[in-house]
Amino acid sequence: LNTLKLNTFETLGIDGKILSAIKDMGFENPMPIQEKAIPELLKNDSDYICLAQTGTGKTAAFGLPLAQLIDFKSPKAQAIVLCPTRELCMQITGDITNFTKNIQGANIVAVYGGASIEGQVNQIRRGAQIIVATPGRMVDIINRKKVDLSEIQWAVLDEADEMLNMGFKEDLDVILSKTSSAKHTWLFSATMAQGVADIARNYMSNAKEISVGKKNQGADNISHIYYVVHARDKYLALKRIADNNPDIYGIIFCRTKIETQTVADHLIKDGYSADCIHGDLSQAQRDSVMKKYRSKTIQMLVATDVAARGIDVDDVTHVINYSLPDEAENYTHRSGRTARAGKSGVSIVIINMKEIGKIRFIERIIGKKFTEAKIPTGKEICEKQLFSLIDKSINTPINEKEIEPYLPKIFGQLEHLSKEDIIKRLISTEFNRFLEYYKNSNDLAGDRSHSASHSGGNFKRMFISLGRLDGVDKGQLLNILCTGADLTSTSIGRIDLMNSYSFFEVDNKDLEKLKAAFDQHDFKGRKIKIEESEKPADEKREKYGDRDDRGGSRGGYGGGGGKREFRKFGGADRKSGGGDRGSYGGGEKREGGGDKGSYGGGAGSRDAGGAGSRRDKFVKGSRPRKKF
Ligand code: AMP
Repeated sequence: LNTLKLNTFETLGIDGKILSAIKDMGFENPMPIQEKAIPELLKNDSDYICLAQTGTGKTAAFGLPLAQLIDFKSPKAQAIVLCPTRELCMQITGDITNFTKNIQGANIVAVYGGASIEGQVNQIRRGAQIIVATPGRMVDIINRKKVDLSEIQWAVLDEADEMLNMGFKEDLDVILSKTSSAKHTWLFSATMAQGVADIARNYMSNAKEISVGKKNQGADNISHIYYVVHARDKYLALKRIADNNPDIYGIIFCRTKIETQTVADHLIKDGYSADCIHGDLSQAQRDSVMKKYRSKTIQMLVATDVAARGIDVDDVTHVINYSLPDEAENYTHRSGRTARAGKSGVSIVIINMKEIGKIRFIERIIGKKFTEAKIPTGKEICEKQLFSLIDKSINTPINEKEIEPYLPKIFGQLEHLSKEDIIKRLISTEFNRFLEYYKNSNDLAGDRSHSASHSGGNFKRMFISLGRLDGVDKGQLLNILCTGADLTSTSIGRIDLMNSYSFFEVDNKDLEKLKAAFDQHDFKGRKIKIEESEKPADEKREKYGDRDDRGGSRGGYGGGGGKREFRKFGGADRKSGGGDRGSYGGGEKREGGGDKGSYGGGAGSRDAGGAGSRRDKFVKGSRPRKKF
């Protein structure tokens, strides 16, 4: 019988001082990527491409070999690790510092934007063998001639696909061209996107490939689930998903800053433990939110793709795609935020009927199937909450000492009640909230037959004298309506954009507020006329002779794009897998196109203006009429 031999860090070739350091960090056994990469990288005779998701232990996969290969007796910079975000930069620096804590003279420096460049330059000057850097700041330091890269023997590109997505290609070119061609390059990437293959071709020679799992495949322990709802029901669906998972510790991805903020505002207002990060927040605000999230003070973090890059939090139970990313490849990055460090997780997508094609496209990219699930009914949620409440009651530790003095009085007050009554009453204090909320709730099915409800019921169809010829799109019109009348986007329903005017739906409760607000607004000097649309939209359209240009429902807060984007997406019938970048093809770019230099502000500061910045056009002047 063969004895099964398991690898240890020792058998992989890791030495004593580093071994004792990682033991202190709780690393008992190597993770699969570490098992494969560590012995290879330690050979130090080739360039390597390692395909690994975040959360698989890839930092140690390159950090441990680096820590072992570097000559810490010399103060010279010998390795440079490039990564996409400030968060990740600090994380890697912290990890490698921990790996080398028992090695005298070891010095690892983090170089990223948004902090004093002088301080970082000083740290480099004092002698750092490993520089961990975001590309933009590294180029700044190179241009200032404040770093000597002549002895760099290893260049590590971490999350290379992310760096390319974020527009760092030129910076990477500069940095790699300034280092000796004798160095070894280790490229880590979740996907073998086209740009990654280009880098490998241009800057690496005879690179060997290491991968765990199939190329471009999402982690195995993630279940992918999608829910189809009508676009306007997305937020309600989100709440039900949260309610149905009382212990959720999740990240909710949105496409734009404004959508991120709006969803978070609603969740907070509706009593959920949530907050958001996006590029309009200062670094200090983002740090504070991240601190709350890490410490689990908040359960749900709403984030843009850009701001969420580098978020490295274990234990995330759910990733929720409130809106799908523009680039299908980004789905892998989003879902990779859950199921980290060997745990399992769920990646949920909330879509409308028109987006099912996108799911099929993503399935081809990740090489895994989604399961379609039904949004839980009110009854199911109530049941789930009830039993979660009972579980919590059973598992709540009792602080005997603190509660003891109050017990006689409490028992006195409850004396006349039976045990059953006491249980029912105590449970009801929490449970009634859910019962009340879901009392008359409908199923949130995504089929189009439900689509009439918005036009009737609580929503009023309105006419507005602004249209495409005024240079507005659906998203901008939504923004004008919300900003002008101080409403949130859930108060606005379907928008039909015409050339010289448009129709939209508004929640009846906000109708008067909207009308009053727009009595005082103009747009580029012209009065905005808003009135209730007496006739159904189609008749009105005929009357005004405008062509039918409805792009379907507005697809959520972001607005716009529905039909157009879908068609292009559908057209993207390319082969999946190897090298296909997996762009949906259509759709306006929502974020991430920011000024590269401004990356300094950290991950989020790269969010481009997007819908959020349109707010700026709403000028509250001293004139009686407000201008857009
Ligand atoms: P990474 O993919 O490098 O971000 O790692 C994901 C998480 O796994 C981090 O929290 C690491 O500290 C942890 N980790 C990495 N390697 C090991 C290991 N061999 N044993 C236990 N935890 C690990």
